Amino acid sequence: MSALGAILRESIAHDGPMALDTFMAVALGHSRHGYYMTRDPFGAAGDFITAPEISQMFGELIGLWAAETWRLLGAPERVHLVELGPGRGTLMRDALRAARVSNEFCAALDVHLVETSPVLTQAQKDSLAQAAVSVTWHTSIDSVPDGPAIFIANEFFDALPVRHYVKASDGWRQRLVGLDAQGALAFGLASDVEVLIKAEAPVGSVLELSPVSQLLMTQIAARIAKGQSAALVIDYGHVETGFGETLQALKKHQRVNPLDEPGEADLTAHVDFAALARAASGAGAQVLGPVTQGEFLLRLGIAQRAEALKRKANEEQARDIDLALARLVTERVGQAPGMGRLFKALAITPPGAPILPGFLREGGQP
Ligand code: SAH
Repeated sequence: MSALGAILRESIAHDGPMALDTFMAVALGHSRHGYYMTRDPFGAAGDFITAPEISQMFGELIGLWAAETWRLLGAPERVHLVELGPGRGTLMRDALRAARVSNEFCAALDVHLVETSPVLTQAQKDSLAQAAVSVTWHTSIDSVPDGPAIFIANEFFDALPVRHYVKASDGWRQRLVGLDAQGALAFGLASDVEVLIKAEAPVGSVLELSPVSQLLMTQIAARIAKGQSAALVIDYGHVETGFGETLQALKKHQRVNPLDEPGEADLTAHVDFAALARAASGAGAQVLGPVTQGEFLLRLGIAQRAEALKRKANEEQARDIDLALARLVTERVGQAPGMGRLFKALAITPPGAPILPGFLREGGQP
């Protein structure tokens, strides 16, 4: 059993079962034993790999996207480029390098990184040591200063805690993490029915909600609605809210039971883009997309970028570039899943702002 498993068991024995989102927040964020607080989880030797770690093209295109977005927002004199959950800092490093094509944008920039993990904060400091712009770290979005801002969140919302409600014969009950007869962590259901949830569904259906994500998107969108700001959210998930559960635990690229070794496996859930869009429009902002990651990157010119890189590459490097491109934009690469279709891009702008690069007007016109 993991160290955190023992702490959780003791806490449940003392205080009773906990909600799934509480469990997830502790498993990922416990100050001493939380998954993200203790390690760098990326890459072949780690538990998973993300788009910026697959290829420099990803961060570069987002840097160009941010520069063009800034221009379309009226080129405010100062702009905060805010990244949520920057991982190893790879996306931001590649983005800032590509953004050098616009001196004006670079001169207007302050970078703010919102990160809770000390290990990854250090990795970001290393990766941005050469950056020619000011970089400030925050443990929460609350301390990011007001004013025009461009928010970037890649594979961030999937790490935010979710809550489950399960349909029983007499109504919806919240799923809780408790202890079984042997004292091991086990899922159970709350004894009280949630009378306010009225959704109709067969017994056994699961409703997966992320109140923390909704709240955070509301906060971001309220800032954006004030003007000259935008957000780009890229993650895996679905475009319509529905029943079903997507919580998964990954360790060394394999799925494991989320309760087996809390703090040792990554816990994520698919992002409900429709719910994020509702939160954003509810806060008075305009929503663009979601579009698939494949469509988004191809519209930004990733195929041309790959060709340009290949002109300077040897044969082996050229093969790697082609493979990275395929992983980022297609649905399947040989037997392995690609990110092109499952991953989506969503943008938030002030009401009436122009359509941003990579997105379409309603009706499909770029
Ligand atoms: N964007 C990066 C990393 C994705 S992993 C990439 O694409 O490679 C999720 C990131 O979010 C990690 O950096 C993790 O430490 C951070 N994180 C998780 N929960 C967080 C929270 N509540 N607040 C801030 N950062 C968080």
